[in-house]
Amino acid sequence: MNRLFKPDRSSKPEKLRLKFRLYSRPFRLPLRTHHGVWRQREGVLLQIQDEFDRVSYGEIAPIPWFGSESIERAIEFCHSLPAEFEAAKIAEIPDSLPACQFGFESAWRSLDRTVTLEKNLPYCGLLPTGSSAIAALPFLTKTYSTLKWKIAVESIEEELESLEYLLANLPKTTRLRLDANGGLDFETAQRWLEVCDRSPQIEFLEQPLPVDRFSEMLKLSQNFSTAIALDESVATIAQLQAVHAQGWRGIYVVKAAIAGFPSQLREFIQTHQLHVVWSSALETAIARRFIETHLVEPSAFALGMGVDHLFADSHLLQMRSIALMMNRYGKKFSERLAATRRQAADGQCCS
Ligand SMILES: [Mg+2]
Repeated sequence: MNRLFKPDRSSKPEKLRLKFRLYSRPFRLPLRTHHGVWRQREGVLLQIQDEFDRVSYGEIAPIPWFGSESIERAIEFCHSLPAEFEAAKIAEIPDSLPACQFGFESAWRSLDRTVTLEKNLPYCGLLPTGSSAIAALPFLTKTYSTLKWKIAVESIEEELESLEYLLANLPKTTRLRLDANGGLDFETAQRWLEVCDRSPQIEFLEQPLPVDRFSEMLKLSQNFSTAIALDESVATIAQLQAVHAQGWRGIYVVKAAIAGFPSQLREFIQTHQLHVVWSSALETAIARRFIETHLVEPSAFALGMGVDHLFADSHLLQMRSIALMMNRYGKKFSERLAATRRQAADGQCCS
C-alpha cells in the first residue's frame, strides 16, 4: 500500500464510478528516436464520478520502451475494475502499472478542487529529428526560447554538421537541449560533450548512454562542464530513488505521466530538492493540465511540453473526444447508488 496516498478523506468509504475510453492520436510525421519509429500515440482517458456527481478526468499514457506498462496491460487493468469501486482501490494499483497509478490518482485528486493555472510556464519545443530540424527552425524559434533536438539517430558526422548549422542559425537567446535517448557509447558521448562545452547555448545533454551505464554517465557529468540530464534512467519513482541513492546530483527529466503515483513523486522531489525538468510523455491536455497545476514548481528549466505541433489532430479534437465520453454517461451515479443502498437496506436482491 502506498504510504503517502490516503484516499479515505472521510470516515465512510468513497465510492467511484469509472468510464474509460481508448484514444489514438496520429503524429503529423512518424516520430523517430533512438528507440525506433512511433506513428501514433495511444492512451486511455478516464472519467470518474463520485457520489456527489462530481466528475473528473485522468489519463493513462504509457510508454512501454521507457519501462511503463503496455497499453494492452492498462486496458486490461481498467476492465478488471468493477463499474463501481472504492477510492481506496487506487492506492493498491501495483508498481508494475505506473501509468495507471498516475492516471487514477490524478483523476481522483482532480475531483476535489478546481485549480486554475496562474503560472506562466515556459515550454521547450521539440525539433524534428535529423536534418529536418533545419527546415523547422524558423517556425519553432518564433514560439519557443528553448528547443530540443534528438540525436543518435543518424551518423555522428551528419549530426555534428547539422548541429553546427542549428547553432549558427539559432537566435542568441535560444537554448538548445540534445537528447540521445541512450543511443551513444562512452567515446561518442565524449565527442558530443567536447562540442557542447564550446557552445554556451547548449543547455544540457540528455541520457547519453543506456540505462545500465550509470557509472559512466556519472563520470561524464564530472569530466565536462555541460550538464547531463537523465531521462530513461529515471522513468519511474523507484528508478529516481535508486539513481539518487547512487549519487546522481545532476538534472532529472521527469515524465510524470509514466512515473507512478504523483503524490509520491512530488514528495520525493521536494524532500531531496531535485533539479527537475518536467517533460511530456506525449500525453493529451488532460494529464498535462494535472502535471502543470499539481506538480510543477517554478524552475529555471523550461518544461519539455512543447509537443503539440507533432500531432496531426488539434487540442479541440482532444476536447471533443472528452465531451463525447461525457454524453455517454447517462443516468446520475448518485441516484443509482442511493437506489442500490435502499434496496440493500430493504433486504432486496439487486438484479
Ligand atoms: Mg529524453
